[in-house]
Amino acid sequence: MLLGDEAVALGALHAGVSAAYAYPGTPSTEILEYLIPRAEAEGITAHWCANEKTAYEQALGVAMMGRRALVAMKHVGLNVAMDPFVNSALVGLGAGLVVAVADDPGMHSSQNEQDSRLLADFARVPCLEPADQQQAYDMTREAFDLSERFGLPVMVRLVTRLCHSRAVVTPGPARAQNPLAKTEAPQDWILLPGNARRLWRRLLDRLPEVREWAESSSHNGFTPGDEEAPFTVVTSGIARHYVSAEAAEAKVRLPHLHLGAYPPPEELLAAAAADGRPLLVVEEGYPYLERILRGVLPSAREVRGRESGALPLDGELTPDTVRAALGLPARPHLAPSDLPLPGRPPQLCRGCPHADSFEAVREALAGFSEWVVTSDIGCYTLGALPPHSAIESCVCMGASVGMAKGAADAGLRPALAVIGDSTFLHSGVTPLMDAVAAGTPMTLLILDNGTVAMTGLQPTVLPGSRLEPLLLGLGVESEHLHVVEAAPRQSAELAALLRRELDHPGPSVIVVARECVELAKVGRRKAKAT
Ligand code: SF4
Repeated sequence: MLLGDEAVALGALHAGVSAAYAYPGTPSTEILEYLIPRAEAEGITAHWCANEKTAYEQALGVAMMGRRALVAMKHVGLNVAMDPFVNSALVGLGAGLVVAVADDPGMHSSQNEQDSRLLADFARVPCLEPADQQQAYDMTREAFDLSERFGLPVMVRLVTRLCHSRAVVTPGPARAQNPLAKTEAPQDWILLPGNARRLWRRLLDRLPEVREWAESSSHNGFTPGDEEAPFTVVTSGIARHYVSAEAAEAKVRLPHLHLGAYPPPEELLAAAAADGRPLLVVEEGYPYLERILRGVLPSAREVRGRESGALPLDGELTPDTVRAALGLPARPHLAPSDLPLPGRPPQLCRGCPHADSFEAVREALAGFSEWVVTSDIGCYTLGALPPHSAIESCVCMGASVGMAKGAADAGLRPALAVIGDSTFLHSGVTPLMDAVAAGTPMTLLILDNGTVAMTGLQPTVLPGSRLEPLLLGLGVESEHLHVVEAAPRQSAELAALLRRELDHPGPSVIVVARECVELAKVGRRKAKAT
């Protein structure tokens, strides 16, 4: 019984993967969580990285050496890794490189609902989209073979429901790892314009073969329906199960085209639509196939889906929305809003060190008439909610630092950025370099809880003790760099320190350190067990 994420991990292991890299991010985290404890016994490398871009680049280096590599990330992590992802489609991969990307429709733990299928299309690489855990295993294995066949990275696109639900998976035989064999085509790895033009052309020349593969892939298939069926259903990935579960109640058997392999097989789509029936496209994420089918020029063909309003444009598919789109009557139900439940917003754990820091922030700012507090992604984002109400932004990893600099450049004083230790190491270091180089009057508060708490207590890539030398190395002046403990009894002192640094006409950094209480609990449990 494997989670979808675990099925991807096992599929990679059985495909002979030599190395796997990731930055923790819901809902993809369990891929590396599965591989890391098994790495030593399996003779592979598997570890967390500073961010998705560094993870991707390490996987690329492994593939350049002729060995198979997996890199895993959540959908917004792919934005961070886009530079190596897109450019790695040009180089001549020596071995399979698979990027497992977990999208989060419904935004259970994300800032947006972006659909990674479009980014595979953008990079012009093949994409496999499993419908269930068995396919997550099988497709991951296949993705490595495909990557070596086409010399391209291959995406395996997952969604939250698949990543985080379990099903029986029947594994196949394990394949041995590739031997170390450095790619012997150095010019293919040097994307200077002269080479890059040739390699871009080569990528374009490969596309017909990739399209041909998608047209004949066993993951894409059409099942005819009854003559009197009022429309044809087109599904992709996990949407197949929503449709088959509900369509069993339909009076007629609907013609059904299912896709799990991209680029979209245009001939197959056209063949499925040849009988002239309207099309209903049920897909998780963007109306990607729906838009392709509808096109932009006027057409007599009716194409229904998320964009047409047959299904909601946002959020996850649900049995209820799919039923409605299929024309089935709603099941009797009690609307959630009819239940007299109190609101239960998420909260910081009792005793969380961030709560003391937010109290100090509020106290420090009380003496100013206006201010801005930019923040970032982690448990501390809950500082936006009562009772803390201490932060004003959370956009993307590391944005707090650059945004505080921008606010200071715009003329606002004081500008405070609040970021966690792991997020700072992920993407906060580089904007801080900008602030130091420009001498920007802003203060950065790094909340060092010693872990990546929100995704399940993964280790930060550098221990807290390395932050101070790192910050000094970036050029933060020692008299405006402070490392203090986050403790309720020291909240007033932290507020006074913050006030002083917010008045400083240059960049300053305060690292507030105290272990996450959940991490401390794990430590105590481990100590008890030994
Ligand atoms: S998991 Fe740790 S950092 Fe997150 S809210 Fe709880 S105590 Fe705070």
